[in-house]
Amino acid sequence: MSVYDRNNIFAKILRGEAPCRKVYEDDHALAFHDIFPKAAVHVLVIPKGEYVSFVDFTGTASADAQAGFWRAVDTVARQLGVSEGFRIASHVGPAGGQVVFHFHVHVMSGPRP
Ligand code: 5GP
Repeated sequence: MSVYDRNNIFAKILRGEAPCRKVYEDDHALAFHDIFPKAAVHVLVIPKGEYVSFVDFTGTASADAQAGFWRAVDTVARQLGVSEGFRIASHVGPAGGQVVFHFHVHVMSGPRP
């Protein structure tokens, strides 16, 4: 497990030091549009805590933080109007294609390229 880097771009977005097109925010999570969308709807949901990846999050976050995060993913899908048809993905580690090392879930809907 790599060490959390507080200078990653999503940490900067969380601290308000970098911009984003916000979709939703609560105590547990922030959701914003992916800067390079790969589907008609492509939103990223990130927890407010410092977790490198899905594995870090599920292994170390409290039950409350985990429940709150997944509730936020569900809320985001509903708010986007895609709750009847969407996909979620999370890349883990370089071998899994992860580029930004703050845990995030991609919420996508619409035809795949
Ligand atoms: P992953 O780590 O899941 O493989 O990919 C990171 C995702 O974050 C990519 O889909 C990329 O387009 C998106 N991304 C990278 N930098 C930024 C940024 O500064 N703002 C936003 N909104 N999305 C970003």
